Amino acid sequence: MSYRGTLVNVIIVGGGIGGFTLALFLQRAGIGCKIYELAPEIRPLGVGINILPHASRELAALGLESALAEVSVLTREAVFFNRFGQLIYREALGRYAGYDDPQFSIHRGELQKVLVAAATERLGPDRIFTGWKCVGVDQDATGATARFQDTATGEAHAPQRADVVVGCDGLHSVVRKALHPHEGPPLYSGVNMWRGVSIWPSILSGASMVRAGWLANGKMVIYPIRDNVDGQGKQLVNWVAELETPKHKKRDWNRPGAINDFIGAFADWRFDWLDVPELIRQAEAILEFPMVDQDPLPWWSRGRVTLLGDAAHPMYPRGSNGAGQAILDARALADALVAHRDPAEALKAYETKRLPFTAQVVRMNRKNPPDAILREVFERTGDKPFRRIEDIISEKELAALSEGYKRVAGFDKQSLQAEAPLARQKL
Ligand SMILES: Cc1cc2nc3c(=O)[nH]c(=O)nc-3n(C[C@H](O)[C@H](O)[C@H](O)COP(=O)(O)OP(=O)(O)OC[C@H]3O[C@@H](n4cnc5c(N)ncnc54)[C@H](O)[C@@H]3O)c2cc1C
Repeated sequence: MSYRGTLVNVIIVGGGIGGFTLALFLQRAGIGCKIYELAPEIRPLGVGINILPHASRELAALGLESALAEVSVLTREAVFFNRFGQLIYREALGRYAGYDDPQFSIHRGELQKVLVAAATERLGPDRIFTGWKCVGVDQDATGATARFQDTATGEAHAPQRADVVVGCDGLHSVVRKALHPHEGPPLYSGVNMWRGVSIWPSILSGASMVRAGWLANGKMVIYPIRDNVDGQGKQLVNWVAELETPKHKKRDWNRPGAINDFIGAFADWRFDWLDVPELIRQAEAILEFPMVDQDPLPWWSRGRVTLLGDAAHPMYPRGSNGAGQAILDARALADALVAHRDPAEALKAYETKRLPFTAQVVRMNRKNPPDAILREVFERTGDKPFRRIEDIISEKELAALSEGYKRVAGFDKQSLQAEAPLARQKL
């Protein structure tokens, strides 16, 4: 699609996954933009995340597939176990399941590095501002203004003006707060999470995404995010322990966690395919954060200001869709700015396309994410070992639970194949 309007200038607030992906799509469409990031420097923070085929297709369209493949693991399968290490269900993922595009398991910091490197090269380093903390946004009939402070000194920077301001500033978004000042804080799900990465020999296929146990007594998600990190074939393995508990602190992605607060729940998880307590003990560092989200908003866009990614639709990290939905938003917003002459119309068109869709993912992540498979088995067995899984739940039912989530989140094979020609089309 060729660009028909005057060149819109866009202020991107927040240099995370969504902000940098948006910058790359805008650059490709010939739309000027600048990114303003709160952190004084962009450091590779976080732990593991997954990029599913619907999102990896968009990153491939930006020419990033091989850069991502170099620093990630091409995920092969999802495997579900109960807390006794018994296999419940196994299914192939990404290219191994016949998708055109892969599933990547990757360190969030590595993903961000790939995006930042591409943005620095394609936009130029003078378009990326670090140490700029957004403190407010205003607009009038001819433009939108973002106000910033220097993160280190607290001094005000000169206000920045553009045709459009996009809040890509994550869970505690200042832009969201400006648009929806009366919304309360993020909502706690009742589940707290501890995360880490450990250097470990390959588990199962060496590219398996393991989900095991259930939240009431302790659930684990485990998957490798980098191959051969020690020159001897060991992998960097990401793990997440999840436990129901009323105790939690405000979400801060960098809050250190204490091993003794959760390892007890996994003390006897010693399977012939993995020693879970030992995997946890091997972590270089442990991070703690609560599972939180927000109710879907009635609207994201007001005139020339809108929201994207976690700022627009924070969701429980239970379906590997947080980063993916931010990437899909970025593509949709760039498409809308190309298609509509009037910036406010473009932002509304973007919202119309993405808000109802992401609201469904937020709700599905609360009710029936992929790990609902574990809940079903937990409830039907009364949390006891089973003799044969077929006596508890049929393969067909298990597959239906998994497929139901894929359809809502937009990565079932049928929809992706149907959309393929459009998605691969150049802006
Ligand atoms: C440090 C960090 C670590 C993370 N670790 C994980 C993880 O291990 N696993 C996982 O699943 N998800 C993690 N996430 C969240 C994950 O990146 C997002 O859920 C998802 O990728 C959606 O991306 P996003 O761009 O909307 O938000 P984010 O990737 O969270 O990016 C938001 C960006 O906005 C910046 N920002 C915030 N406030 C302001 C402000 N006032 N002014 C300017 N900039 C601002 C933040 O510093 C950040 O760079 C992490 C996020 C962060 C910021």
